[in-house]
Amino acid sequence: MIIFGWGHVTNKQYGATLADNCSNCNNDSWWHLLRNRKWFTLFFIPVIPYKTKYFLMCPVCSQAVELTGSQIERARQLNVLTQGLLNKSISENEYRNQAKKIEVLG
Ligand SMILES: [Zn+2]
Repeated sequence: MIIFGWGHVTNKQYGATLADNCSNCNNDSWWHLLRNRKWFTLFFIPVIPYKTKYFLMCPVCSQAVELTGSQIERARQLNVLTQGLLNKSISENEYRNQAKKIEVLG
């Protein structure tokens, strides 16, 4: 007998991505990039993701904005850059110069 299922959900946190003000809780903070996936499972093991969504989430109140189209790729680039800033592998100047080129929600 083959046991399969739908709707197994996993969330992956990529960490700090975009410095922004939250319209919900009014805090300035680093919004986090989040990936939400729904999986097809076989014998309770997730094998194929059939739905993937990306969000930017306020870490204070968990308000989330869904990213679409090219916003996703830009958010991932900015995430890598922001992680570099936070672990001090790039300078703040370098960060600002690079981040200007990536307008995530534009
Ligand atoms: Zn918030």
